[in-house]
Amino acid sequence: MMKAKVDIAACNGCGFCARMVNGIFLIRDNGKAFALNVEIPVDYIELAKVARDECPRGAITLYDEKRLRSYVSYPIEQV
Ligand code: SF4
Repeated sequence: MMKAKVDIAACNGCGFCARMVNGIFLIRDNGKAFALNVEIPVDYIELAKVARDECPRGAITLYDEKRLRSYVSYPIEQV
């Protein structure tokens, strides 16, 4: 279950990601990109990786939500 996020502070608003994967990356009125909080369809994953790799500001992160959850969902029991 891959999702994307954009570091808004790093984004320069070039729009490359939105042109590559329209519907996952969008440009807000403030000129910055954001990623919808949705699972990236399998057919778009390679395009999303290109957007991440070619983003001129390195502002895009792709992550596996399930794996991320596994790190934060289980509190460490104090002994
Ligand atoms: S490609 Fe990178 S810098 Fe350009 S709009 Fe997308 S996130 Fe922002």
